[in-house]
Order: sequence, then structure tokens, then C-alpha cells
Amino acid sequence: MAEPEDRLPYPLPCVAMVLENMHEVDVPATEDEMDRAFAAFGSAYVCRLMDIPLFPNGGIHKKCSHCEEVMHYVATVCSEDYDIEGLIQEGFSFIFGEAFLYFFICRSCCTIETEMQST
Ligand SMILES: [Zn+2]
Repeated sequence: MAEPEDRLPYPLPCVAMVLENMHEVDVPATEDEMDRAFAAFGSAYVCRLMDIPLFPNGGIHKKCSHCEEVMHYVATVCSEDYDIEGLIQEGFSFIFGEAFLYFFICRSCCTIETEMQST
């Protein structure tokens, strides 16, 4: 269990978000570009919706635990970097460890499930 000072508050504070198109750096093709993409993820933004997911440990091929259909990637959320605290809201640290939380949806039964990877 996390130390009290490391726990995120519940409920999380409401924060206005801005949806931006991904930039070239966010869609890497080489190993060097992958490092730059992961450097931006957590320091420039903390959530990716749709498009191409970033996986530090290879792709995730997930089947629905309810109906066994192939699930489809929806989004990834990561913590803000320790030196970037306040990215989401001033005075608030959105840090839940050095992990990436991946959201998948089953188009057959509308179930959403998550998987986690860390660097
Ligand atoms: Zn399903």
C-alpha cells in the first residue's frame, strides 16, 4: 500500500482538458524516436486517446474477459514526471508510479478493461 503522501485524492480534482492532435514526436518509428516520445509522455501531457499506443514492453493483445472477443486500444494514461509536477493542476501531483495504464474496449459487449506496463 502506498504511503499516505503518495496516494492520489479521491475523487480526483476536476480539471479542464484540451484535446490536441498528436505531433510527429508522439508517433515514433525508430528506437531514438521512441525515447523522445516517452520523454514527452508524462512531461508534456499525461493521456493519449486513440491513434497509435506507446508500449515500453511490446504490444498488448487483449481479449475480453466477458465474451473473449479481441479488444481494441482506446487510451493510455501515465503519471506526470516528478520534475513536471503541476502539469495537470497547480499544487497537485498526478503521480501513480512509473506505469502506463492502457484502456481497451470490447466492441461486442462494450466492456472496458485496463492493462499496465512500466519501463
Ligand atoms: Zn466483450
